[in-house]
Amino acid sequence: PLAALDDASLLRTQALINGEWVAGSAQFGVTDPATGALLAEVANLGAAEAEAAIAAANNALGPWRAKTAKERGAILMRWQQLLIKHADDLARIMTAEQGKPLAEARGEVVYGASFIEWFAEEGKRIYGETIPTTDNNKRYLVIKQAMGVCAAITPWNFPVAMITRKVAPALAAGCTVVIKPAEATPLSALAVAELAQRAGMPAGVLNVLTADADNSVAIGHVLCDSDVVRHLSFTGSTEVGRILARQCAQTVKKLSLELGGNAPFIVFDDADLDSAVEGAIASKYRNAGQTCVCANRFYVQAGVYDAFIEKLAAKVGGLKLGNGFEAGVNVGPLIDEAAMAKVESHVADALALGARLVAGGQRSVTQGAQFFEPTLLADVTPAMLCSREETFGPVAPVFKFTTEAEVVALANNTEFGLASYFYSRDIGRVFRVGEALEYGMVGINTGLIATAEVPFGGVKQSGLGREGAHQGVDDYVEIKYLCLGDI
Ligand code: ADP
Repeated sequence: PLAALDDASLLRTQALINGEWVAGSAQFGVTDPATGALLAEVANLGAAEAEAAIAAANNALGPWRAKTAKERGAILMRWQQLLIKHADDLARIMTAEQGKPLAEARGEVVYGASFIEWFAEEGKRIYGETIPTTDNNKRYLVIKQAMGVCAAITPWNFPVAMITRKVAPALAAGCTVVIKPAEATPLSALAVAELAQRAGMPAGVLNVLTADADNSVAIGHVLCDSDVVRHLSFTGSTEVGRILARQCAQTVKKLSLELGGNAPFIVFDDADLDSAVEGAIASKYRNAGQTCVCANRFYVQAGVYDAFIEKLAAKVGGLKLGNGFEAGVNVGPLIDEAAMAKVESHVADALALGARLVAGGQRSVTQGAQFFEPTLLADVTPAMLCSREETFGPVAPVFKFTTEAEVVALANNTEFGLASYFYSRDIGRVFRVGEALEYGMVGINTGLIATAEVPFGGVKQSGLGREGAHQGVDDYVEIKYLCLGDI
């Protein structure tokens, strides 16, 4: 599929350190999850190159920080425009290595670019403060300064947007970065880095270390152990987030963590049912269910339970499973066999404990090895695995509930707290439930909540910090207090 790029030079297979493309001494393979075909061999870097990238970012820091926010913003805006200009090629690269339908991939490129635009503008508004004095001989000032060298470890489910969402605020604030993209999706990261080069990003300001799974662990150690790296931003599983947080304790690094979720999707009796079904489809089956904000548990009130399942089943039956390059496909392959096995185990567990299979339920018999049928399970109970763990696949488990208090307790009964959703037309309930849900984000009468202008992030074990919005800059600046005496 990569033979058809308009601009073949976007297909980079070497890593980027200090403005130079680096081949490394070994390579690792990147495969197409839809077909299993080898797409490219990419530089497999290790600890030594990680040290070199940190040194390059550190050397570039002074001059980059010394530029005005407007100057940095101009380079970021050129980068953003290049992402938009090459959106079709970036989407092709993404669909090839990640599997999501081409239209979704293109949507992600536009979404990813929007973070660069937002933070290019926001960089100009990193305001300080003057604090009214309590001593006439003194004045109190607060300024915000770039933290320094930042590291970003990113996942495969949003190969472009999870990079821009971290890197754009860092660069806008005056930080330099070392990125370690997911081993499944390095080609998207490298294409985005190529465009940063074309936009005029100075050498060393943005570095990309590609590596396979083993070397990613080694690079992770170097990034976490480094005194020079002042901040680590990670998006991925809670399990790996805990490991990285532990590793960063030694150097007391500032951390931004965007970890797993277990999103409840609640439909009350007073909901607009068609709208709820539409939101459920968007929230659940987008990216084949592989997003950290995908609805993981559907709670439907008794009065509309049967009707909701019937309407949802009709829509699920209409979803087209297939290669993301094929027209009309809504659900692509899962990222790897481990993902398939997890989805399969959640379905098997639910069925063994008495759930009712309404749609799908198995590996596809018509597509390749990594396709799972869009699945709908009814009569699910809290005893089942899918109510506790993030399924990260195209499975919608539906629970029946009776009262508002009961469903709020069920929804909050998890160590996760990223996204949640509920449907109700009752204004009192909208406030009550919106405030009672222990989540960083609440979608009310909508299944899609993410955009660059709003603070994305979780509470409890779903993470630390917020990405996007004006708050997205906060993690990349230090607050400095200046006390002026002898006035
Ligand atoms: P996912 O469940 O999305 O695959 P992971 O949390 O396993 O997420 O991986 C997300 C990112 O973290 C990837 O870039 C991966 O290479 C990296 N990663 C995984 N384990 C480690 C580790 N021990 N140290 C550093 N990076 C890691």
